[in-house]
Amino acid sequence: MSAPFRHVAFIGLGLIAGSMALAIRRAGLAQKISGTARTLETRQTALELGLVDTVHETAAQAVQGADLVVLCVPVGAMSAVAHEIAPHLAQGAVVTDVGSVKQAVIDAVAPHLPGHVHFIPGHPLAGTEHSGPRAGFAELFENRWCILTPIEGTDPDALDRLSRLWQGVGASIDVMDAPHHDLVLAVTSHTPHLIAYTMVGVADDLRRVTDSEVIKYSAAGFRDFTRIAASDPVMWRDVFLTNKDATLEILGRFTEELFALQRAIRQGDGALLQDYFERTRAIRRGIIEAGQDTAAPDFGRAQKK
Ligand code: NAP
Repeated sequence: MSAPFRHVAFIGLGLIAGSMALAIRRAGLAQKISGTARTLETRQTALELGLVDTVHETAAQAVQGADLVVLCVPVGAMSAVAHEIAPHLAQGAVVTDVGSVKQAVIDAVAPHLPGHVHFIPGHPLAGTEHSGPRAGFAELFENRWCILTPIEGTDPDALDRLSRLWQGVGASIDVMDAPHHDLVLAVTSHTPHLIAYTMVGVADDLRRVTDSEVIKYSAAGFRDFTRIAASDPVMWRDVFLTNKDATLEILGRFTEELFALQRAIRQGDGALLQDYFERTRAIRRGIIEAGQDTAAPDFGRAQKK
C-alpha cells in the first residue's frame, strides 16, 4: 500500500510529535518530515534525534509544501499557530491536531484555515507524564485508540488517508463528534487527572508527612497519583480551561458520589462500600480484557526491577 502522505510537517516537537515522527519513519509512512518548535533548543534536539529532516524557525516555513500538517502544541496555542500557517498551507493539504480537547480546538483553528485544505481534528489516547522531544518513542501509539472528530463536510479521502497514517503507527481509529469526545475524555482522563493533582496537593499540604512517610510509604496507592500529577502543567492547565463544561459536569457527579461514600463510612454501611468496590473492580477487569492495561500485580513494576 502506498504511503498516505509525502511530506509531514509538525508544529511543536514534544512527546507526541516526537513519537509520531519516529513511528512514521519506522513504518515508512512519509518521505519527508519537517518541523518547528518555539525554542532553538527543542528544534536542535529534534534534528539531532533524527525526528525531522529539516527544522524551521517559524511554523510558516515548516508547513511549506507539506501535504499533512500536525499541530502538536498545547491546546491554548492552537489558534495562534493556525493563524500563522494559514496563508502558507499547500493546496489540498490535510491539517490535523493531537490536542486533548476537541471542540475548543475546532473553534480555535477552523476559522483561520483556507477553504482549500482539509481540517480533521484528532486525539491519540496515548501519552506519558514526560514532555519534550527526548520523551518520544515509536511504540507510544501501539494498541492505543486515536479518536478523530471530523467536522461537517469532511472529505472522505482525506479522512481515509489520515486514518491510514494512524493505523500505520499502531493505533485503532474511532470517529465521534467533538462534544462527545470531550465528555468521554472528561470521565476517562481529565477528571482523574484533577483528582490526582488534588490528592497530591492535599498530601503536600501535610508537609510534616510529605517529608518522610508519604514518600516512604507511597507504594500504598499514593505513588500512582503522583505519576499522573507529574503531567505537564501547561498542557493540563489548557485542558481544564478549554474543556470546562464537561469536566465541571463530571466533577459534580464525582462530588456527589464522594459524599455518598463519606456517608457510608460515617454510618458504617459496609454493604454499600463493598457493592461499590465490586462494581469498580469489574471495570478494572474490563480494561484488562480490552487489552488496555496489564493484569500484572503493581502494573508489572515488580517484574521490571
Ligand atoms: P510537549 O512534549 O510539552 O511538547 C509541546 C511542543 O509545543 C514543544 O515543542 C513546544 O516547544 C511547543 N510549544 C509549546 N507552547 C507553544 C506555543 N505557545 N507556541 C508554539 N509552540 C509551542 O507536549 P505534548 O505532550 O507533545 O503535547 C502536545 C499536544 O498533544 C497537546 O495539545 C496535548 O493536549 C496533546 N496530547 C498530549 C498527551 C500527553 O499525554 N502528553 C496525550 C495526547 C495528546 P518548546 O519545546 O520549544 O517550548
